[in-house]
Amino acid sequence: MARQIGPSCKLCRREGVKLFLKGTRCATDKCAITRRKYAPGQHGQKRIKLSDYGLQLREKQKAKKIYGLLEKQFRKYFFMAERSSGVTGEVLLQFLERRLDNVIFRLGLTASRRSARQLVRHGAALVNNKKVNIPSFLAKEGDIITITAKEKFKKKIQDDIELAKDRGVPAWLEADHANLKGQVKRLPVKKDIGYEIQEQLIVELYSK
Ligand code: SF4
Repeated sequence: MARQIGPSCKLCRREGVKLFLKGTRCATDKCAITRRKYAPGQHGQKRIKLSDYGLQLREKQKAKKIYGLLEKQFRKYFFMAERSSGVTGEVLLQFLERRLDNVIFRLGLTASRRSARQLVRHGAALVNNKKVNIPSFLAKEGDIITITAKEKFKKKIQDDIELAKDRGVPAWLEADHANLKGQVKRLPVKKDIGYEIQEQLIVELYSK
């Protein structure tokens, strides 16, 4: 399955915000954004005034990187959102949040979306007691998500849960960390996202 590769911290520095791509390291002083809050590269420290197109492009790139998606996958969510009822930008964010890898990360069961995706790919995720190994599976209201890791991986998951506690669990989810499970109480809305994403700019970019 295609996925983002390359240095994760450079992606955060390019967008100027913490995207939490490296799990535990993101919560420490070693975070590259804390130490070097400017874009990577030779001209990274120069102030550049972005055009309207540049602003729209950066916003789209930020959202793509947060959820670890490539252009084709991200665009697919946009077209799905466009065809759905509701405000396109908000529906787009809702689709992204409902991805199974994101739900597991948001429940605080893993330190990053990347490790959540790995768990799903390895068949460790159950949705309503059925194995689901597709990270893009869209969770819906009432779904119960359980992690069934082998004994040797449980310690790592418990460590991740401890580290993720500071992040908190969004209001649309309910976590049961002791049993490595959680439930989708309702579908997420914009205020549940927890990131500064100006989805309207993404809609404008794709509507050109
Ligand atoms: Fe981003 Fe995490 Fe790297 Fe910080 S440590 S720059 S939040 S990936």
